[in-house]
Amino acid sequence: MNGIYSIQKFSSLDFPGRLCAILWFSGCNMRCPYCYNKDVVFGKKIIEEDEIIGFLKTRTGLLDGVTFTGGCPTLYSNLINFAKKIKDMGFEIKLDTNGINTEIIKEMVENNLVDYIALDFKAPPYKFEEITKNNHYDKFEKTLEMLINSNVEFEVRTTVHTDLLDENDINKIIKILKDKSYKGKYYLQNFFETDKETIGNIGPQKRKLDRSQIISSIPVEFRNF
Ligand code: SF4
Repeated sequence: MNGIYSIQKFSSLDFPGRLCAILWFSGCNMRCPYCYNKDVVFGKKIIEEDEIIGFLKTRTGLLDGVTFTGGCPTLYSNLINFAKKIKDMGFEIKLDTNGINTEIIKEMVENNLVDYIALDFKAPPYKFEEITKNNHYDKFEKTLEMLINSNVEFEVRTTVHTDLLDENDINKIIKILKDKSYKGKYYLQNFFETDKETIGNIGPQKRKLDRSQIISSIPVEFRNF
């Protein structure tokens, strides 16, 4: 069963412009080789919603928002009701998502249950399944288009491990974003090396991304390079 796996009670970095708590939701519909959140993706431990609500009551006026991350928060069956409870307390919500559950994300957007979305653009269509082990690029694309046509604040980001994605792949993603009239910044996040075991047991990158080969027809920002 998917649920709330753990909580980080404070972050000033995760939710742009806001102080937030972070909730990790267990389970994921992808299996990215570089994922170091194995515990969360395969996690079964559940924290009850009441415990989270009780904690948030003590943070009213101190925190601006709550980040939903994972794993994949959209797999949580009570996500909509839970988000409503948190919004009713006056907190803003950020959703980190791989974009596969278009309908849930759309429901959150249409009901003003989310204030900021970080959407992972995992790979161009021809590498999507290889990297995510999920063959629903079509669903991701639907979510991307839905968000571009909405008023919700969102960013698109890609984790770069150069054994998996090269400069041409990144340029292909940039072209797709440009063609779809994406107006925001595109964030490239360098693979984060840690001692934690990754899902694909992938090691460090053999080489760094050559930033000079990135043809930037939209604003690109590099994180952790
Ligand atoms: S990195 Fe991939 S496998 Fe890990 S939580 Fe994100 S989408 Fe799921």
